[in-house]
Amino acid sequence: MARVVVVGGGFGGLAAAARLAKLGHDVTLTERSATLGGALSFETDDGYAWDAGPTHTLLPAVIRDLFRKSGRPVERELELVPLELVREHRFEDGTTLRLPGGTRAGQLAAFDQLGPGLGQTWVDHVASYTDTWEVLRTGYLEQPWDPAHLPRALAALLDSRAVLHKRLRKDFRDERMQLVAGHRFVAEGHDLRNVPAWLGVMSYVEQRFGAWTVPGGMAALGDALRARLETRRVTVLTDNTARDLAVRQGRVAAVMTDAGDLPADVVVCAVDPRRLPALAAYVERTMPAIPPVVTHLGLEGDVPDLGPEVVLHGDPMITVRTGGQAPDGCAAWTVHGRGRLAEDILRALARHRIDVRPHVVVRHDRSPRQQVEQWGGSPMGVLWQGRATVRQRLGPTTPVQGVYAAGAHATPGAGLPFVGLSAALVAQVVGPA
Ligand SMILES: Cc1cc2nc3c(=O)[nH]c(=O)nc-3n(C[C@H](O)[C@H](O)[C@H](O)COP(=O)(O)OP(=O)(O)OC[C@H]3O[C@@H](n4cnc5c(N)ncnc54)[C@H](O)[C@@H]3O)c2cc1C
Repeated sequence: MARVVVVGGGFGGLAAAARLAKLGHDVTLTERSATLGGALSFETDDGYAWDAGPTHTLLPAVIRDLFRKSGRPVERELELVPLELVREHRFEDGTTLRLPGGTRAGQLAAFDQLGPGLGQTWVDHVASYTDTWEVLRTGYLEQPWDPAHLPRALAALLDSRAVLHKRLRKDFRDERMQLVAGHRFVAEGHDLRNVPAWLGVMSYVEQRFGAWTVPGGMAALGDALRARLETRRVTVLTDNTARDLAVRQGRVAAVMTDAGDLPADVVVCAVDPRRLPALAAYVERTMPAIPPVVTHLGLEGDVPDLGPEVVLHGDPMITVRTGGQAPDGCAAWTVHGRGRLAEDILRALARHRIDVRPHVVVRHDRSPRQQVEQWGGSPMGVLWQGRATVRQRLGPTTPVQGVYAAGAHATPGAGLPFVGLSAALVAQVVGPA
């Protein structure tokens, strides 16, 4: 049995701790704030509750596998439901696309409504990622990768100079389709000219497996994992920041924290590695992707009836998420802003004829900087700076023996599926006690 210390109690740290405890290790998780969950938490005020970060996930199989491999199946603890309508895109020319998930036929019809023939162009684009998905899944996402010995197809993919910006311009003459296919990466803070083309595979994942949520808020997943750690007897230390790692003869010996040194045979870094000086030098060529401007709103009265997520394209790009919990007759929205936001975000929203300013009873603004300070790093993970980024990031192994990396900074993108997979890879490499 190894003494494992997990640094960080966001989804990545929680998932790694639950899996490693189930494998029989003696696990301690240290978290700098008073509560667990990181971005996967609720923000509450006056009867309203908003997801601080994620409101839905792709690849529900990742969550199902996590619960199965750490104890009871997810169905016993949490309701995961598919979103019929994943997102509504409103374009600057006044047209709208209502995009369903998990259905090729549904997406074909939705794009055909946007313009005759666009449906086939879209499904052809998505289908072109079928092989990419298999190569990534089998060689990279579900297998601990060794950058020095990659299967040939995977190496060709990861080393390709092709970027998403060019790929989308080539595949779509209609600019709106480029916006839809690139939306996820812009929303996560990337410049499409620096995002590898293979990441377009996310459109394939969304079409094939759909988007899923938890009624009552995605952060309920964080609560369920907290309970799972208790069942698995993980020692949880909150209000305890990890400052560095003690490394002896190239091997980790302890995690240095505010409450003293925690001796460790194995350490899982589930935070931005820049925060731990012993790892920082290995990631100095990477940069964090920055969260959007976030405003949580408690609304009263007659507000527009929108789907779960509406993206208003333009500069700034504004996203409205409507699924928060609110008292009867009220609504809880979260608004994200990206780009040139030189005025109040609700004024910018009103320019799109969604004016909720008279209805606001509660308002929480979270700047990108506040979020990074709140979570001790960016939950958006590593900024794409071209194809090299994939090799400049840590995870699942690191150059320090006994230290592994999970979480958004150890994955090819922010998002619960990748973060969950990163924890599964760490558990695979560490193995049973
Ligand atoms: C506004 C927003 C919306 C999002 N929407 C979605 C979505 O709809 N779907 C989706 O899939 N993903 C979404 N994401 C991304 C998703 O939230 C993240 O990818 C995921 O939650 C990251 O988990 P993590 O554990 O890597 O990091 P975090 O959630 O950042 O957790 C890190 C934890 O480590 C702690 N910590 C930091 N430093 C230390 C230290 N030195 N010592 C001890 N503890 C430390 C922090 O306090 C924190 O609890 C969104 C993110 C944001 C910000």
